[in-house]
Amino acid sequence: MVRIHRLSAHLRRRFGERVQKIPLDAGFSCPNRDGTLSREGCVFCNPQGSGSGMLDRGLSIREQWDFWRDIHVKKHGLSLFTAYLQSYSNTHGPAAKLAAALDGLDGLPGLTCLSLGTRPDCLDAEKLDLLAASKERLGLAEVYLELGLQSASDVTLAHINRGHDSATFANAAREAADRGLTVVAHVMAGLPTPQGREELAELLDTVAFVDALPVQGIKFHNVFVCRGTRLARWFEQGDYAPPSQDEYLYWLGEAVMRLDPRMVIHRLNGNPAQGELVAPAWAGNLRRVHNAVRDHFEKHDIWQGKLNGAEQGLPEWFDPDAGDGA
Ligand code: SF4
Repeated sequence: MVRIHRLSAHLRRRFGERVQKIPLDAGFSCPNRDGTLSREGCVFCNPQGSGSGMLDRGLSIREQWDFWRDIHVKKHGLSLFTAYLQSYSNTHGPAAKLAAALDGLDGLPGLTCLSLGTRPDCLDAEKLDLLAASKERLGLAEVYLELGLQSASDVTLAHINRGHDSATFANAAREAADRGLTVVAHVMAGLPTPQGREELAELLDTVAFVDALPVQGIKFHNVFVCRGTRLARWFEQGDYAPPSQDEYLYWLGEAVMRLDPRMVIHRLNGNPAQGELVAPAWAGNLRRVHNAVRDHFEKHDIWQGKLNGAEQGLPEWFDPDAGDGA
């Protein structure tokens, strides 16, 4: 049974075949790292884990693209790809830098969509206009703007040294959607707070906040502790404990049931980079986490929008007879 509106299935339905993401490093930094806002970063962020480092190794955008594309073409015969500008904040700095990065995508073979990750405070009208114009200029079917929110609570955002508030996210999401960009929100479950930790109630508040905005996609991320971060210090001092797998499964199920059934789910859990995970151990075994999510959703008959919009009829992606689980 199909239980969530998953990105891979959404793209396959739209394009008739798989659309593969290719991660690209365009050499951007982050204002929360380079001193513009702070040098500390978000308390959970491992700067070593945030970038692919391919640009530092001297590979241009075109060379990075060809490297990954060749693998996917040879191994799986794929022909459609999404350029994924993932590392750090890909609109940080002058608009000319973003324009140059977008120019670098021109003519990439098989380029179908663009997915660009950034912070909501690294956008202005000029950069949003550039992104919107790139859709037609580069012949893209979709431009996904992945915006980090993490939590709708400004108290939590201040505590994790995020450097922006939830209103900044809301404004950026509205401005981007007005220009035809497809906004994807990043949210995290189990963030530290001055009192301890966000729990289910805060995650549901964040999902409701996102649901009320012109956001069309969401990435869920369980908080895990990475080496060398402030969160690791808090964890070692006994001041913070990440959610257990059972807690996360329960929270995720409750959140997914309340999510707009039209929202596309891009991710259901965080994915630690190699060597960075301190705790919890369960977060490091992605296959097992995926299986646990599927089993939990099946056992409790959880499906996206069950508690939000189901009265208007089942969404078009929902197929009780399909074998694909969560
Ligand atoms: S905004 Fe992103 S890259 Fe920057 S410190 Fe926070 S998590 Fe790390």
